[in-house]
Amino acid sequence: MDPEALDDAASEVVGRLAPSPTGALHLGNARSFLLAWLSVRSRNGALLCRIEDLDGPRIKPESIQEAIDDLAWLGLDFDGEAQLQSAKLGRYALALEHLKSKGLVYPCTCTRSEIERAQSAPQESLDHGMVYPGTCWGRYESGEQARVESGREPAWRFRLPEDAVVVFQDGMHGRVEIDVARDCGDFVVAKKDGQPAYQLAVVVDDGDSCINEVLRGDDLLSSTSRQVLLYRALGFPEPRWIHVPLVLGADGRRLAKRHGDTRLSQYRRRGIRSAEMLGFLAHSAGLLDEPRDLSAEDLLDFYDLTQVHSRPFTLTTPPW
Ligand code: GLU
Repeated sequence: MDPEALDDAASEVVGRLAPSPTGALHLGNARSFLLAWLSVRSRNGALLCRIEDLDGPRIKPESIQEAIDDLAWLGLDFDGEAQLQSAKLGRYALALEHLKSKGLVYPCTCTRSEIERAQSAPQESLDHGMVYPGTCWGRYESGEQARVESGREPAWRFRLPEDAVVVFQDGMHGRVEIDVARDCGDFVVAKKDGQPAYQLAVVVDDGDSCINEVLRGDDLLSSTSRQVLLYRALGFPEPRWIHVPLVLGADGRRLAKRHGDTRLSQYRRRGIRSAEMLGFLAHSAGLLDEPRDLSAEDLLDFYDLTQVHSRPFTLTTPPW
C-alpha cells in the first residue's frame, strides 16, 4: 500500500445513525440523520446503524423495522446490519465491572423522592433532572451490602472526578464547557433493573465500533459531557462531536406529537416522495436556497457543515 492510501485508511471517518424505537421517526429525526449521513458519505466514510432499544416499556418493537424502512426510503444507507443494543447486555455488564474494578462507580439505593428531600433547595440541572447530592457515596462497601441493608436493588453511579468541568470542541458549537457537578452530579450508568443507562451503552457502542464522528441533535450536548468522562474512564479515544440544531414546533418546543403528525411513515403513505422530503430537510438546514427534489446521493454535492444553520428550524406550517 502506498503511504497516501495508508493515510486515508487511517483517517477514514466512521459515523453512526442511532435511532430510538420509542416511536416513529419524524421530520426532526430525519433531518439529523440526513446530516449525519451526508457528513460521513461526503467523505466516503463508513456509517453504522445502531438501534437504541434499551428504554424498556417505551420501546415499540414495530418501530424498529419502521425506522429501518424510513431510512431506506430516504436513501440513507448504512454498512452492515443494524445492531440492537438489547443484544449486547453482556458487553455493557462487562464495562460496568471494569468501572467497578477501578472504583469509579458506586451503588446507590436512593429513590427519586429521597433525592428531592436530600436537597434543601433542589437544584434543577441543565437537562431538567435533579442534581444528585452524592448521598450514597461511601455508604456501602459493595452492591451486595447495598442490597441487604436497603432491601432494594441498587443503581450504579459514576463518581465524578474532583474537577468535573468537561471541555470539548464541537463542530457546530465550537468550544463547549460543562460543569458536570452542577449539571447533574454523579450520574447513573446502570439502572436498578440491571439495564445499562443510555450514557454507558452509547459510549461502549461507539467505542467498540471505533466511531470517530458523532453527529446528532444538540439536545444531547449536556449528555456529551458525561459521555466524555466515560470515554476517559473506559480508555476509548473521543470522537469528533457535531451537535446540530433541532426542528421545533410553532410553540418553540422540540417537535413532538402535540405538533401534529410529522412521522415519516405518514408522509410515505400519503405518497410524498423521498426526494421532496430530502429537499425540504436540506433547505431547512441551510444546504439549499430553495427546497427542490433531490436524492440523498444528489445532496452529497451540497453538503457543507459551515452552511448548516446554527439556529433551530421552526416548523410553523406542515410542509405537505
Ligand atoms: N437514540 C438517540 C435519538 O434518537 C440518539 C443518541 C445518540 O446519537 O447518541 O435521539
